[in-house]
Formats: sequence, C-alpha cells, structure tokens
Amino acid sequence: MALNWFKKKKHKQEEKMPSDQKIDEASEAFETEDVADTLPPGNNDDGKHQKLENETLPPPHTNDQETDQATSKKPSGFFKRLKGGLSKTRKLLSTDINELFAGNRKIDDELLEELEELLITSDIGVQTTMDLIQSISIKPSEISGPDQLKNILREKIQELLNATTKPSQEIVAKPHVIMVIGVNGVGKTTTIGKLAARFSSSGKKVIIVAADTFRAAAIEQLMIWADRAGADIIKHKEMSDPAAVAYDGIQAAVARDADIVLVDTAGRLHTRKNLMEELKKIKRTISKKLPGAPHEILLILDATTGQNALSQAESFNDALDVTGIALTKLDGTAKGGIVVSICNALEIPLNYIGVGEKIEDLQEFDPTEFVNALF
Ligand code: GDP
Ligand code: MG
Repeated sequence: MALNWFKKKKHKQEEKMPSDQKIDEASEAFETEDVADTLPPGNNDDGKHQKLENETLPPPHTNDQETDQATSKKPSGFFKRLKGGLSKTRKLLSTDINELFAGNRKIDDELLEELEELLITSDIGVQTTMDLIQSISIKPSEISGPDQLKNILREKIQELLNATTKPSQEIVAKPHVIMVIGVNGVGKTTTIGKLAARFSSSGKKVIIVAADTFRAAAIEQLMIWADRAGADIIKHKEMSDPAAVAYDGIQAAVARDADIVLVDTAGRLHTRKNLMEELKKIKRTISKKLPGAPHEILLILDATTGQNALSQAESFNDALDVTGIALTKLDGTAKGGIVVSICNALEIPLNYIGVGEKIEDLQEFDPTEFVNALF
C-alpha cells in the first residue's frame, strides 16, 4: 500500500525532474544579463547608484541588541527573529499538517500525497521529501495523528541536519582569507559587512577587499559596511581588474598584520566574460600571493530562490571548490525547507544563516535551533 505508492511516486518524480537540465538552466541564468530582472530591488546597475545605496543599506543595528550584536555569542533575539522569519514555513509544517488529519483521517496514500505536497511547497526538495515520506510510509501504524507525524518529521530532519553540519573551522592562518562568491543580489556584500562586524567585535583586525569592480555603487556599498564594522577596505576604481584588487588586498593584509581578509566578488560581469573563469583567476592570484589562501570559499545563496539555489551551489562548487555556504533571506520566506534540502543534497556544510538586513542578522547555523524554530 503506502510503500507501493512511494515506489510509484519515486519513478514519476525522477521522470519529472531531470537534474542536469535544472543545473544548465540555472548556470545559464547567471551567465547572462537577463538575471537582473529576477533580482530583488536595489540591485539594478543602470545608474541608480544613489537609489541602490539607500535601498541596500539598512540601518546599522536594531535597538535591542546593541551589546550582543556581531559577537559570536548567540543573541537571544536571533532565535526570535529566526522563528519570526520562518513563520510562513512553519505554517506549512504545523497548521497545515494539523489540517491533514481533520475529520480523524489516518495515514493513507492520499494523506501521504498531500503531505508530500506540503513538504515540496516548503522547498525541502524532491529527493529529501521522498526520503522523509519513505520513513513515514514504512510505519503508518505508529502514526495516529498530527503530533506523532510532526515528531517523526522533526526527528528525521534533525538527524539529517546533524549528519551534515560541521563545527566551524578554527582560524589558524594569519591572515585568514575568505573569498565570498555567489550570483548577483544574493547578499554577498551584506554578508561580508555582517561577518566583518562579527570578527572585528571579537578583536580581529579585518580587511575587506572590493573585488566586485563591476559598478561604483558596489564599492561604495562596501565602504559603508567597512566603516560600520570598523574594518579597513582595499579598493580600486570601478571596472578595474578584480584579480589585481585581490592581489593588493592580500599584500596590504600581510603588511598591516591583519587577521581576516574578506574578498567581495561580482555576481556577473560587464562583458559577457565567463564569471567562473574570472573567479578562478581571482582565486589563483590570491594563492600565488599567499600560499594556502584563500582558506575559505564562502558561497552565498538566497533562500527565496528555493531549489535554484542548489543548482547554483553545484555550478560554483564544480568551478571553485566551495568550502561553506551562507544562506541569506530566511526571513519571511515560505521556502525555509531549503535549509534541509541544502544539508541533504549537498556535501558542502551550511555555515551561516541570515535572517535580515541588519548587522546582527547573521549567525552560525545551529541545527537544533533551526528545528526548534521550524516546528
Ligand atoms: P550582492 O549582490 O550579492 O552583493 O547582494 P547585496 O549584499 O547587495 O544584497 C542584496 C539585497 O539583499 C540587499 O537589499 C540586502 O539588504 C538584502 N539582503 C541581504 N541579506 C539579507 C537577509 O538575510 N534578509 C533580507 N531580508 N535581505 C537581505
Ligand atoms: Mg555586492
């Protein structure tokens, strides 16, 4: 019964989702100029620099977390914001699951199918959803109501997240170089600002390198973040060679005895030059100047793009060997299940999650905290 349904379903899903095609589409999207149309407001680069600056730079901090902000200690306010941010996803996994059982229904094929839809809507992903449904469908007799179902889901999701989360890497190199990459508009510059603030406030000397030379506004945006975070910035003119900026950045970091270097990069390029090739060149330049660097390649993904984020991760990882992911914009999205999908489908650890535009809205990813916010 239920298990037969599961096998049938699996076959059907595989036919529906040729994964190669999805990756191709995604890579194409961020290699072309058209991607700007899909970006959040504030990321157009057609001369609206002033506008962009105003829109992309939120006030430095909220009122209540002044002392906690930007420290590695978790402010209690962060859990509140995470929970608030995930409220749309939580509705799918909570209220909507309760409703599945309305009228004393039992677990059967029809109910499983509806559950599958809920999980996929929350962007847990086809494969991960199938894995979860399978663990549920083999013990239908043990589940007599929504609470048991939620407990099983919660347990399975927690297991899944625990299995793939690595404790954050200890910083031994000086300077420790983090190259930040990702498609345009995902939150690279904002995340660099937040990270710079975290490192600075823990007493580290931080240098930010403006290797996104695509637009003047990108450099200005970074200068404001550097100022807020109390970090130095190394920049060249708009349109200059990003690898040359990276080279100077590393040189300055060594000369000034910096602890951390954060390298911002472009998400697309002026000409139709290949983004991956340009990023590889930056990476090579950094390692030539400082053997062993970059120590981290941090890929930024936008939670609101759902499954597309997975295709981006695969493409960037193929080209650059990503060491970790920061997932932004978990606030307000119904696609919070993407966290589970990223942890289940990718081999890359999820290091940070972002739940807002302010300096304190970035934290190290904590599976238990996430599951608690989700259910
Ligand atoms: P970049 O093109 O990758 O450098 O992206 P930006 O850092 O310029 O960010 C693009 C937009 O996303 C800006 O308006 C940011 O304020 C916003 N943003 C970044 N992170 C978050 C987040 O965690 N939550 C929300 N709601 N917005 C974010
Ligand atoms: Mg940027």
